[in-house]
Amino acid sequence: MSHADVDTADPPPATHVIALDVGGTYIKGGTLGAGDTALKNAERWHTRADRGAEAVLETVLACAAELLERCPDARAAGVVVPGIVDEDTGLAVLAANLGWRGVPLQDWLSEHLDLPVAFGHDVRAGGLAEARAGAGRGCADFLFVPVGTGIAAAAFSRGRPLTGGHGRAGELGHVVVRPDGERCHCGGRGCLETVASAAAVARRYARATGWRGITARDVRHRADAGDTVAAEIWTEAVEALADALATAVTLYDPERVVVGGGLARAGEAYLAPLRAALARRLTFQTVPELTGALLGDRAGCTGAALLAHDLLLRTEVPA
Ligand SMILES: [Zn+2]
Repeated sequence: MSHADVDTADPPPATHVIALDVGGTYIKGGTLGAGDTALKNAERWHTRADRGAEAVLETVLACAAELLERCPDARAAGVVVPGIVDEDTGLAVLAANLGWRGVPLQDWLSEHLDLPVAFGHDVRAGGLAEARAGAGRGCADFLFVPVGTGIAAAAFSRGRPLTGGHGRAGELGHVVVRPDGERCHCGGRGCLETVASAAAVARRYARATGWRGITARDVRHRADAGDTVAAEIWTEAVEALADALATAVTLYDPERVVVGGGLARAGEAYLAPLRAALARRLTFQTVPELTGALLGDRAGCTGAALLAHDLLLRTEVPA
């Protein structure tokens, strides 16, 4: 309760937080001042998840310490992770690509950093950042859909993300779009992720042509250059995503759909056919605006920082 002047219009200028977005490949970090939306001290480190759960935890701590060295006056930390996250208890319930199961991350970090720690889900935090500082601005009901190695979604209603009864809402990548399709790593069959993720596009092209080491971006370039197999796989990915988005639009009635992740970096070359394919599928539903995300791969980390600032506001300003 150090701010006697909390009633003044401006937030205290010295309030900074550190933020980490812990992913399977990279840990992204940065610092953010109160009222700012652009991360400072942005940095990324290799997660090297193959070393095991404990080693990744130690790396997260080392990254946080490095950020604190650059921003010693930071008053809180925000951390977001993938997978199944219980934001109420601060538990990383299951993050398969980090090897974490039931890790009490929030308490553990808070104890080791001696700071209040805000904890969240990477996609919901990314959506929060897009809502406040990116492509979701001015829109209370929107759907944030990052399409990268995997596919997820966060549905925002009245400005708040839906978490579900068990922290599992938004798993758009595991909506079945091809019931007789490929087996998915989740145990299902024909999930959206098996057709429309960057990993699926690359894998399907490799299987069809025998070319190895091709990325989804290469597949698009080949499609643009007249490779008909590449074009077909790319179109199938767009059509499958449109199928899943039509379901999501029917359920959530968003004003806007914000598509992010690696595939959306192709811009209108990806978004325009997706927009058309979605519109073709909708009948009575209001066709939402469909636009690209603005914060790129900083959305999750920016969202983590915003969660940390929210935590400070909740805990430091008397009700
Ligand atoms: Zn699945």
